[in-house]
Amino acid sequence: DSETKCAQNVNIIEAKNSPTIFDRILDGSIKADIVYEDPECLAFRDVDPQAPKHLLVIPRRRITMLEDAQNTDQELLGHLMLVVKKVAEQEDLTDGYRVVINNGPDGGQSVYHLHIHLLGGRQLNWPPG
Ligand code: 5GP
Repeated sequence: DSETKCAQNVNIIEAKNSPTIFDRILDGSIKADIVYEDPECLAFRDVDPQAPKHLLVIPRRRITMLEDAQNTDQELLGHLMLVVKKVAEQEDLTDGYRVVINNGPDGGQSVYHLHIHLLGGRQLNWPPG
């Protein structure tokens, strides 16, 4: 209902204005299993893997969610996608893999720092849950 929707919007605004766990991974104050890094981004293993290989690629500069991306982010977004490909090669995902961006509540986004999921190492089903 509209009350639930309103509460949800308040939560998103709050989430967008608060630091996330990924800030702490980026500044090294919490540990992550980092598999790739460069001046623009970082790739590390998901702490709660949904497949034998589950990695996250994040930009160092925070974009809260895909819907907040701007035209000026075009180069960064393209770079992230190519890094996903590079990490997939590095992880020997030669039989294929899936790339996912969760956006907002219906998309199941829980961390409001844009990230690309890379999943592989098993047959993935479609449609996803
Ligand atoms: P989302 O649901 O926002 O698309 O994905 C967030 C992802 O971040 C989840 O898959 C979750 O398991 C992962 N995650 C949350 N906290 C941590 C953490 O502290 N370390 C790592 N490596 N992954 C995390």
